[in-house]
Amino acid sequence: MKITIVGGGTAGWLSALYLLSRNIVTDEKTGKVKNENIWDITVIDTDKVPIIGAGEGSTGLLADAVALRLKRIPEITEWDFLTNTESTLKLGIRFKDWNGVGTEFLSPIQPTETANYSLDVHFALSAAYGKSHLAVLNGWMMENGYSTYYTDKKHSTLSHAYHFDAHKVGQFFKEVALKYGVKHINAEVIGLNRNGLNGDLDSVNLDNGTTFDSEMWIDCSGFSRVLIKPMGGGWKTYSEYLPTTSAIPFIQKYEKDENILAETLAWAQPNGWMWQIPTQERYGCGYVYSNQFTNYENAVDELQKNIGKKIEPIRNLNFEAGRVEKFWVNNVIAMGLSAGFLEPLQATSIHSTIVQLDSFVLHKLMATKEETCLEANREVFNRVISTLFDEFRDLIQIQYINDREDTEFWKYCKYGLPRTDRVKQILETCKYRIPSHNDFDGHHGVAGWGVWCWTLDGLRHFSIETAKKHLKTYRFDTDGESAYNQVQRHYKTYAYRLLKNKQFVELLKAGKITRPTMDQKRVPLAPPQ
Ligand SMILES: Cc1cc2nc3c(=O)[nH]c(=O)nc-3n(C[C@H](O)[C@H](O)[C@H](O)COP(=O)(O)OP(=O)(O)OC[C@H]3O[C@@H](n4cnc5c(N)ncnc54)[C@H](O)[C@@H]3O)c2cc1C
Repeated sequence: MKITIVGGGTAGWLSALYLLSRNIVTDEKTGKVKNENIWDITVIDTDKVPIIGAGEGSTGLLADAVALRLKRIPEITEWDFLTNTESTLKLGIRFKDWNGVGTEFLSPIQPTETANYSLDVHFALSAAYGKSHLAVLNGWMMENGYSTYYTDKKHSTLSHAYHFDAHKVGQFFKEVALKYGVKHINAEVIGLNRNGLNGDLDSVNLDNGTTFDSEMWIDCSGFSRVLIKPMGGGWKTYSEYLPTTSAIPFIQKYEKDENILAETLAWAQPNGWMWQIPTQERYGCGYVYSNQFTNYENAVDELQKNIGKKIEPIRNLNFEAGRVEKFWVNNVIAMGLSAGFLEPLQATSIHSTIVQLDSFVLHKLMATKEETCLEANREVFNRVISTLFDEFRDLIQIQYINDREDTEFWKYCKYGLPRTDRVKQILETCKYRIPSHNDFDGHHGVAGWGVWCWTLDGLRHFSIETAKKHLKTYRFDTDGESAYNQVQRHYKTYAYRLLKNKQFVELLKAGKITRPTMDQKRVPLAPPQ
């Protein structure tokens, strides 16, 4: 089947690699890799519309995609990704000043080992007797500046995500895709030709005067939404529920001997928040703000004042949070920014693209259009991916419901911002007990208890007394504190085996982290999950 991707940003080239990974077969005896071309893949993009180039933090799903989903492609290992994209490791997010200036909490990417229990015991013990992020090893490693790599410079625990240079990721994925025969056309899509009988997209008109036909299409054209909009994907805005509207990206140089930590900083500001993401060479930063409470010039001024440094903005980017109503219409699927956009507070965008690719490429894609474009497939895909986006909207909203009321913006968040149904439910639950995974929808990749828990505790949406009371109903009231202390002692036994993150970045840059051998990258015969 012929599949065409419109858009050559991270979403476009990642989609190409996913498709390619199902085309590739490795000869067990010779180890040679062959492209069987079951799917004939083309990427169309145009120099006239630059890529967004702003997203530089991921969730653990990108590390999973690199290590597992794309492992049939020999050039894609974690080592290749790290060295080609100026990446560093990410263990979680440090939220600063969200519950008032001077407050702080950590949000590790790793859920607790008991996150799927009726009461998340590890979390509850930590919330009741210590710091909630110390319920997981990742949280302890964040607090103590570790990386996930062992001192043998080879193996890691793999519970990490990445920080990267956004331009380099697309470029790296593109080089690998082209090497294995993915075709590339540099032209602008200027018109669509739909089938008069069934409404499918048959071909597109390009600005070089040609027409290009295909059986399936993936729209990765970013905010242009070049295919999905005219195909009738519709739009569902989240602007009522999320208060920010604009972002000012900028770069910050490292100080001499900067202690590079494996964490994103999300720092609340007078009218929004600032991200700070460490790559190998510098911080990628940005101020996400609400233009209803400030404007571009004031936003730059207040940020500079707050962080005590001058910034050089790259641009001022306005956005509307939301998603398409239908992600898959006829034979067209929207991925990446063309599917929707939420502010990058929880790095959900590339994550959502991967969840969509998992669902489409690994679960629904068959060799022909007739077998793939089933109404049943479209219905399930649209329903599940809508939930994915809506639940991320709720996760981001909960962050804005906090104790700050020092500016008009924060007062509005506290008293004026309409709550989503999920947020109302969870806040009600928190008055009486610690929520559990059972309070959330359980599809692959959807934000659940494992990520909500850190923010709910960090913003004090339930009290220490509630945690203790809940533990008591499970008879954990007598030895809870000693159980917590025992786990903390256990973490320390890891420390001597792990590299500090600063050390890890220095070794990586010096070429002293070892690339895995092909043996470690053997391809299983069973389909990936
Ligand atoms: C301020 C900001 C911060 C972000 N931070 C994060 C983050 O921390 N983590 C995260 O996961 N995500 C983040 N994102 C989102 C992230 O940037 C995107 O998910 C990612 O870059 C993928 O973008 P894309 O490929 O969908 O679109 P783009 O990068 O915009 O690429 C669009 C492509 O479509 C092509 N195109 C457009 N129109 C046409 C046409 N008519 N014909 C042919 N080609 C066309 C363009 O040439 C381009 O190649 C952030 C986004 C913003 C705006």
